[in-house]
Amino acid sequence: MKVCKFGGTSLASADQIKKVCDIVTSDPERRLVVVSAPGKEFDDDIKVTDLLINLAEAYLKTQNCDKELNQVVSRYQRIAEGLNLGDGIVKDIENNLKTRISLGYDHKEKFIDRMKAAGEDNSARLVAKYLRSLGYNAKYINPKDAGLYLSDEYGNARILPQSFKNLSKLRDMDGILIFPGFFGYSLSGEVVTFSRGGSDITGSILAAAIEADIYENFTDVNSVYAANPKLIKNPKAISVLTYREMRELAYAGFSVLHEETLAPVFRKGIPVNIRNTNNPESKGTIIATTRKITNGPVSGIAGTGGFLTINIHKYLMNREIGFVRKVLSILEEESVSFEHVPSGIDDISIILRKKHIDDDKVSRIMERIAHNLVVDSITIGYDLALVMVVGEGMMNSIGVAGRATTALAKGGVNIRMINQGSSEVSIMFGIDEKDLDAAIISLYDEFFDENNE
Ligand code: ASP
Repeated sequence: MKVCKFGGTSLASADQIKKVCDIVTSDPERRLVVVSAPGKEFDDDIKVTDLLINLAEAYLKTQNCDKELNQVVSRYQRIAEGLNLGDGIVKDIENNLKTRISLGYDHKEKFIDRMKAAGEDNSARLVAKYLRSLGYNAKYINPKDAGLYLSDEYGNARILPQSFKNLSKLRDMDGILIFPGFFGYSLSGEVVTFSRGGSDITGSILAAAIEADIYENFTDVNSVYAANPKLIKNPKAISVLTYREMRELAYAGFSVLHEETLAPVFRKGIPVNIRNTNNPESKGTIIATTRKITNGPVSGIAGTGGFLTINIHKYLMNREIGFVRKVLSILEEESVSFEHVPSGIDDISIILRKKHIDDDKVSRIMERIAHNLVVDSITIGYDLALVMVVGEGMMNSIGVAGRATTALAKGGVNIRMINQGSSEVSIMFGIDEKDLDAAIISLYDEFFDENNE
């Protein structure tokens, strides 16, 4: 049995949904199908998830969201018309949205998640109905009935372990099962969503739960590329990657997969195949436990901005037992997760994602560290970007860091920080955000330009 997931662009219009259904029905093993909400049909279009967020925010502000509701309903109406599904399903979707609104809220995040989840939920109902209209035995599956339970971290939920056993029962159901991505339920029965792009995670959870042969993730590109195609013209296509490589690349900006996608399938060793809904003949990229190292030390170059760093200096820090634990326990008490902690003998820096923390919290954390740990200095560095040079082949190859730093120097990029984990699967460079594009281009030229290989 295969699990396949289709992203927003694959659901953006009636024509796209027809392609999805052709792909699903062309292989009898494709029986568990995860769908996103309709995404952008053209460049200036707005994703249904964003329309739903607008709707929720308008309602929270003014208790009125008629205009926003109509925008969402007309998106689905256009799709339903193109699929010849009649008005019934459009009325159902409108009622579904109105019921969600009428349930009220005791806090904002809960309400926003309930509204956001309507995108995938109604997509799944619509696709199941369309397949039935073609004569297939297809069912919409409600994540609550199937037992997909999540932590009650609204907008950023994580899977609860008991879900896997519940979801494994889907294996025994007949027909084609259409499962909405992106959300599940808290133990108290509230809708909770993953972070944005989280339908990828749903697909991975389902693949692990039913022990699928493969997790096919259909998107709108032919494969994963060695660097961002918006920056590098015709970058090298990657046919096989390991989970570790993909995890590092997704972490640092490869948006083809949500960065939390791989954990469930990785634990079960289920391969992932990234494929293109618009070109199903293309074999795409396989992500698996191991691969043959045939392509040189580096598989890909990724980079992303949006980080800040708290730099702590204390003379003789290296002799002070428990120093780092005390710093990290302040972060824990403030519910902040850190990304990296590069250190020297008398310095540590804590790298945080800006989107995980606001200015007040940063100031509070800095005051607490300065006061409780009596440090000599504590400063903040803004506008940090991270660039990762990623590849399993680096482990047995000498001089990769040298080549990378020389390339960055040639590109005029100042390195603020370097970090290499013990797995040697990646080298991370902390640089100024303004240098990000130059850094990626220089590193790509160094490792992928044929003249340098
Ligand atoms: N629709 C959600 C989003 O736009 C989740 C997803 O598509 O994966 O973030």
